[in-house]
Amino acid sequence: MTEHWYPAYIGLGSNLNNPILQLETAFVLLSEIPLTRLVRQSSLYRSEPFGGIEQPDFVNAVAALITQLPAAELLLELQSIENKCGRKRTDIKWGPRSLDLDLLVYSDHEINETNLIVPHPGIGERNFVLLPLGEVALEVYVPNLGRVARINAHASDLAVSRIE
Ligand code: ADP
Ligand code: MG
Repeated sequence: MTEHWYPAYIGLGSNLNNPILQLETAFVLLSEIPLTRLVRQSSLYRSEPFGGIEQPDFVNAVAALITQLPAAELLLELQSIENKCGRKRTDIKWGPRSLDLDLLVYSDHEINETNLIVPHPGIGERNFVLLPLGEVALEVYVPNLGRVARINAHASDLAVSRIE
């Protein structure tokens, strides 16, 4: 039986320990996840921190994958990459981090588990997610929000600029 390949979109973010290098390393590690292919990577974007905590600017990007892994297993792979890249599990929500990998969209699935919410609830409000997501997935339909091209980052007026 041939397994199904699901499209999945990953949000990458870092604002500690050389963020650009963190994201470049993360893209390589994403390409090495079993039963998964990295099909596109967005440009890198520099963005103001979110959540009102004084901290360095973030670098953000989005990766487009296809995968045979179920969403829950893909999340475990993302967390293992975060850990490899020195992510410390502090309690500060929206605080500084060496690498944050969020599962933004997984095919047309809607998931509401305690440890996994898909589509990621931040998509509709965050320019630093929507700009790179638009680069790799403009036509993609996000459950409850519609096509990426049509989503406005209504709650976000943070400055975001393309790095390369
Ligand atoms: P944030 O990315 O919102 O700043 P964290 O990365 O610290 O917060 O949150 C990690 C927790 O979020 C994990 O324990 C994970 O189980 C949960 N989580 C829920 N939905 C998702 C998702 N779509 N992608 C990544 N993590 C998620
Ligand atoms: Mg996260």
